[in-house]
Amino acid sequence: MKFKELGLSENILKAIYDLGYNEATYIQNACIPIILNNRDILGQSQTGTGKTAAFGLPLIEKIKKSEGKRKPQALVLSPTRELSLQVSNELRKFSKYIEGIKVVTIYGGTSFQEQIKNIKQGCEIIVGCPGRVLDHLEKKTLKLDECNLLVLDEADEMLNMGFREDIEKIIEFIPETRQTLLFSATMPQAIKDIASNYQKDPLFIKNPETKLTGSTITQLGYEVAQKDKEKVLIQALEIRKPKMAMIFCNTKKMVDDLCAQLVSLNYPASAIHGDMKQEARTKVMERFKKGQINYLICTDVASRGIDVNNMDMVINYDLPQENEYYVHRIGRCGRAGKQGVAITLFNPKEKRIINDLEKITKSKINIEDLPTKEMIDKVIFEQIISDLKESLNIKTDKKINKLVLDLIKNENLDVNELLLALINKHYSKNTIEVVQAPIKLNSLKSKTRKKVSIKISVGSKDKVEVNHIVCAISEATGLNSKDIGKIKIFNTYSIAEIPEDIKNQIIKKLNKTTIKNKKIEVSLEKAKKSKRQR
Ligand code: ADP
Ligand code: MG
Repeated sequence: MKFKELGLSENILKAIYDLGYNEATYIQNACIPIILNNRDILGQSQTGTGKTAAFGLPLIEKIKKSEGKRKPQALVLSPTRELSLQVSNELRKFSKYIEGIKVVTIYGGTSFQEQIKNIKQGCEIIVGCPGRVLDHLEKKTLKLDECNLLVLDEADEMLNMGFREDIEKIIEFIPETRQTLLFSATMPQAIKDIASNYQKDPLFIKNPETKLTGSTITQLGYEVAQKDKEKVLIQALEIRKPKMAMIFCNTKKMVDDLCAQLVSLNYPASAIHGDMKQEARTKVMERFKKGQINYLICTDVASRGIDVNNMDMVINYDLPQENEYYVHRIGRCGRAGKQGVAITLFNPKEKRIINDLEKITKSKINIEDLPTKEMIDKVIFEQIISDLKESLNIKTDKKINKLVLDLIKNENLDVNELLLALINKHYSKNTIEVVQAPIKLNSLKSKTRKKVSIKISVGSKDKVEVNHIVCAISEATGLNSKDIGKIKIFNTYSIAEIPEDIKNQIIKKLNKTTIKNKKIEVSLEKAKKSKRQR
């Protein structure tokens, strides 16, 4: 459904348009009109389903222009500082065309003074973590006596973090006439208790779990080392020749890099990501639908508004960060009875995730061996021959035919030899490379949580990102990514935290490896006195 039909006003619709959202998600469709109608909601929906806008848009709609002193009219509680900041930013984006809406974010770990100053200056919306919000309420540096809308976002997460009591205390500070919206990915008893204690006749809204429709999607998986992914992608494109394919990466940067790489190899590819203006996205989509671009490279978020569903191939270049995304991604091919292929690339460490994906989709992902030289050659020659055969249908010119045949006769050429030379010439243009399966290594295991820092001789000037470092470490050592600590990228080098007990083995293995095709040098970084958090 379009946002236009949900009862939102023009200024908000304009902001949504700027964000590039085309259609409302299920939870947005279901919630927005109900919230506007003042009813409480108990919403259950997985991450990534658009809950922020589901409550955020009607929340903005309900804020009244303050007359006199500006006091908070809405409070959003969220489990972490990051999420609070994220929600605040979204709310600011939603309200960019409306004057007189200020959002103040409140979280622990920083000074009270700045927050108190911001609250005192007056604001309409508070977003924050329960602990610090309660602190302010108890110190009376925050008053919620005119707050008439409370949102508990990611409620199950807040309870997991032990915020139940804080939340209950906070609610006591808010007038009973308020509207209360509660969102949670899961519905344990504790959430139901909060709902029944603090909500008034809430409407329960549940996002339907996505299921794979039909069985016209062939799911394939290739186990491949990170550094070989691009070659395996090209194998898939060259061997299967999809007319419309979507290639999913997890970050904008990856999308841009991969797109630049494919374009430089003359592949008709284009990127779509959240930073692009609506107009630019629409243009790319039109070219894709017309077949002027065959490969669309995108992130999950950017793909959400895209309304092309008859893809013949979906490629998971990166494994989806949420299992649920896998279903969204591959569900875009194999619709309307069309045959679709979903190809997933994964590295040896990610094998377990493939099993999880099979479980949630209740279907099989066939792990195939990477094609051998013989297999690749066979496919390429078949393609050349079939191209030539197709050319037999082209109407030929008698005069030219005579010329050619005369030439062959006069020069005494062998037609068979000519044909083979022609085919070989085509073959020499082949861009498919053979890729070796990743080596199974004896994984290093750590028994300590103690970390030391190492210095790696590549940095942002080598276009290295955090995920490159993580992949390189786990590929070289077999180390679980949860054993890798903080990673910081500097211009010419990077610093990574690794387990103390196996530091020497790790450094030794890393010194034999490459990142972004560059041989790296790795050494122990001397510990500096930490100034943080006294
Ligand atoms: P949740 O809170 O359910 O995990 P979010 O509200 O954080 O989900 O939304 C996930 C992502 O989807 C965000 O980047 C958001 O900008 C984007 N998004 C939300 N609604 C839409 C929509 N209707 N169309 C396109 N993208 C959307
Ligand atoms: Mg959320």
